[in-house]
Amino acid sequence: MLIILKHGAGQAQIATIVAEVERVGYRPHVSEGESTTLIGAIGKGPTPELLEHFRALPEVAEVIPISKPYKLASLEVQPKPSVISWPTGSTGGNAFMVAAGPCGVESREQILTAARFVKRHGAQMLRGGAFKPRTSPYSYQGMGRAGLDLLVEARAETGLPVVTEVLSPEQVELVAEHADMLQIGARNAQNFALLQAVGETNKPVMLKRGMSMTLEEFLMSAEYVLSRGNLKVILVERGIRTFEKATRFTLDVSAVPALKSWTHLPVWIDPSHAAGKRDYVIPLALAGVAVGADGIIVETHPEPEKALSDAAQQLHEHEFALLMKKVRAILPAVGKEMVGGLELA
Ligand code: PEP
Ligand code: MN
Repeated sequence: MLIILKHGAGQAQIATIVAEVERVGYRPHVSEGESTTLIGAIGKGPTPELLEHFRALPEVAEVIPISKPYKLASLEVQPKPSVISWPTGSTGGNAFMVAAGPCGVESREQILTAARFVKRHGAQMLRGGAFKPRTSPYSYQGMGRAGLDLLVEARAETGLPVVTEVLSPEQVELVAEHADMLQIGARNAQNFALLQAVGETNKPVMLKRGMSMTLEEFLMSAEYVLSRGNLKVILVERGIRTFEKATRFTLDVSAVPALKSWTHLPVWIDPSHAAGKRDYVIPLALAGVAVGADGIIVETHPEPEKALSDAAQQLHEHEFALLMKKVRAILPAVGKEMVGGLELA
């Protein structure tokens, strides 16, 4: 349920209600607005008696049951967009971010070269999988631990925070020690043990949409992370499975406005995995920006043709540079900007 405090309620009133919410076995989530404070009380559906109990408290203006099955992700609980920040940039609200880099970390030279050029063209975060979730057990599985160390080296040199995928609950501690954001891939989007494990960390989580997930299921997966106390979750639309074979997946651009009408969490687009072909990546990325995404994550590689995974969809450096130029041209039209970026070389 959502408890709306009376106009002008101060810290003492907030503390009283928070304590009462905890006393009845619910989890409080406080959202302080300009003039009103909302307290989400998260738990099983409230009884009419409990609603009445809170309505009768002197600090409370109104109590409404939360209608959505997801609670902490809901705009009903937090009407303001969540903003997540790193030293190089922010995402959410009017802040737009670009994360870029290769599909997988393959060598020291490869990841350092990619890190340098994505920074030079204005990306605010470096991507690169150290552990790769491959459909075939015979495909490239990533460098593992050594890949994590190379990402740390690339961050030390460029100042770019790094996002990399975590495949299992057992890996969470190790990956969280190295990365600035934890990626949950499409194939693990309903691995509830993994979602709970990343929910126990304090690292932002980038959650990809499962390839056959409805948007409500997607938000319920996010809720698994949020319900463990980690409120920094970014939702990524990366294409869903349809009957169409011209692209690797079908980018569901309508996911962006739909999600934004239900959740305060930042929503990103991954044009690379949706496209599957590099020629389609720039137009799909621009569609994502135009439709109101809070960021994009794009694959680019110093020598895409030689990439050990996802070779067909990774951009060449000059294509990535062109993409950045076009993204910057569209951002003002949607009222967004890239803030806090590093100085361009
Ligand atoms: C990736 O980002 O390289 C990846 C494997 O993505 P997805 O989980 O969306 O397929
Ligand atoms: Mn990939």
